[in-house]
Amino acid sequence: MTIEREIFSALIAQNALQGEKPSVQSYAQLAVDKGFRALSSKQQAVVSPFLQKKCEGMKKPNEKHNNCQNIISGRELVTALEKSEHYKGWRCESCRSASEK
Ligand SMILES: [Zn+2]
Repeated sequence: MTIEREIFSALIAQNALQGEKPSVQSYAQLAVDKGFRALSSKQQAVVSPFLQKKCEGMKKPNEKHNNCQNIISGRELVTALEKSEHYKGWRCESCRSASEK
């Protein structure tokens, strides 16, 4: 499975595309079913912004939000998605480990 396919599969599994345009949802589903490369370049352009996401950052009680600027992509995005429920958001690895302390 390509990384794009894994990401879209994780996005769909986590309902992360709910509320996006129908075209986004159907191309993402197509990428899962047929592979990202089966999409036309136009279709790829519609869904490729979803292959990365800015970290939501984290805030510990009584501390300021860390205003994290990390961009999550690739394998890290799949992990962030899978753990988004536990961490209540999409966070990069350093924010996830920081919030464990
Ligand atoms: Zn972060």
